[in-house]
Amino acid sequence: MESESSSICCRCGACCVTFRITLPRADLASRAGGWVPDALTEPYTPTTACMREHPDMPGRCIALAGSVGESVRCTIYEQRPAACRDFAPLSAFGIGDEACDEARRRHGLPPLGGL
Ligand code: SF4
Ligand code: SF4
Repeated sequence: MESESSSICCRCGACCVTFRITLPRADLASRAGGWVPDALTEPYTPTTACMREHPDMPGRCIALAGSVGESVRCTIYEQRPAACRDFAPLSAFGIGDEACDEARRRHGLPPLGGL
């Protein structure tokens, strides 16, 4: 999810229930200079962590609130991993990319308009 101010992403959230979000452990809030809340992550590899899944909804990031395709919100928006910040950077302007389109397709949503 690129931009919380993007009404498009606030009505979607498909990427947050589709892809495993990994991050360097160095980005965890417990590390100097880190910011991602440790409690919402779990170890992934020796050097990386990943966002935990919702206990009742496999594949869904634990930090996502709301209903996909209707109204969603990242509850750690200011502390979200770099992968989330960098995902589909033009989505706020209604321009998707391959991964954004794939996530939306898997959840019955049409692709955003391309360039
Ligand atoms: S899949 Fe695309 S449109 Fe949907 S929330 Fe993610 S970046 Fe936004
Ligand atoms: S941290 Fe936020 S933006 Fe990233 S996948 Fe989870 S809910 Fe989506």
